[in-house]
Amino acid sequence: MQDIFNEITQDFRYDHELNGCLNCGICTATCPSAHFYDYSPREIVQLLWTENVEQVYNAMQEKIWACAQCMTCAARCPFRNSPGGLVMIMREVAIKHGFESAKQVLRPFGRVMLKLITTGNQLSPDMIQPDAFPDWGPNIQKVEGDLQTLRNAIPVKTLQTVETAWEVSLKTSVEMYTIWEMTGVLSSLETMDENLYDVIEDFIDEKREDYEDWLEEQEED
Ligand code: SF4
Ligand code: SF4
Repeated sequence: MQDIFNEITQDFRYDHELNGCLNCGICTATCPSAHFYDYSPREIVQLLWTENVEQVYNAMQEKIWACAQCMTCAARCPFRNSPGGLVMIMREVAIKHGFESAKQVLRPFGRVMLKLITTGNQLSPDMIQPDAFPDWGPNIQKVEGDLQTLRNAIPVKTLQTVETAWEVSLKTSVEMYTIWEMTGVLSSLETMDENLYDVIEDFIDEKREDYEDWLEEQEED
């Protein structure tokens, strides 16, 4: 428990995100997640600030996953704290140590992760449909039609990536894999979901071979 706490406080961002806390509650008053969940950014900051190691550990079992990472709290705090930034550090430590809470929260996003990593590209709205996510549960069929109507109706453009999100060069994909490897993204994935990691690793190996073949072909020409 103490090791986990130390790891959080030794993160290079920690001192920038936590200066002290007035306990004024402005962050919680403006936090969207606090309105819907048993969650308070003020509480998170107070636990860290007062070095309440046990409660910090407990908060990592559930509460920290309620944060939407919108950073409204950081914009409003008179002490220039960033509760959302502190939550981000806590989440990263939870993932690194394979907390069960992290596994549960991330499990439904496995298909998204698979898409993003295997194509090395973004997720576009049209990908959230039953064909692409057959294992996303029975209700995906019911909401799919409405989603299409809503996407067309809202003023913010959401469909401009429909074409490009499926396209990525082989070279870019291979470069992205290398970045994810070197920055520890893939090892975090291995900690969270070994099966998904194995599938992705096979895919990456295949793409790398394709890339090597392509390079050889260029040299021959
Ligand atoms: S970043 Fe998290 S804690 Fe901060 S306001 Fe948004 S949801 Fe709340
Ligand atoms: S707004 Fe800042 S000072 Fe006020 S309770 Fe939240 S973290 Fe503490």
